Amino acid sequence: MPADSAGGLECLQCGVALTAPSGGGPTPKFCSSAHRAKYNRDQARRRVQPIEGGAVPAVLGRFDELVTALQETAPQVRQLLVDYDPVRVAAELQRLRSELNATTSDLEAANRKIEGLERALRLSEELNTALRKLSGTDVPDA
Ligand SMILES: [Zn+2]
Repeated sequence: MPADSAGGLECLQCGVALTAPSGGGPTPKFCSSAHRAKYNRDQARRRVQPIEGGAVPAVLGRFDELVTALQETAPQVRQLLVDYDPVRVAAELQRLRSELNATTSDLEAANRKIEGLERALRLSEELNTALRKLSGTDVPDA
């Protein structure tokens, strides 16, 4: 289940960079105990759910896309998406739009940010919907 990401250590929950212990101890997998707890909770929930109609692979595929999209956005935005709060993400998107209007110097960077954010927002909504279906007691057959 863990996608082996050789090399760089990242928090499995939020993707923040972690430092490896120099003494060769156990490698950290999370930035905080809260993220370890959340990750394990989500993993346990996923494990309990039966795979129906390829729903799980589909979700994982969307998750990959989401992670890619998140990597293109600012860390605080990434954190918003990790917490699956579309309302706050939309607010952040609005803030970035205002920022874009205010400054033209880094127009391109802001544009990229917005595009990545819009994509991430869409994906997080899809993912959230899919996860709700997966964790619901009744998984509707499409
Ligand atoms: Zn984390």
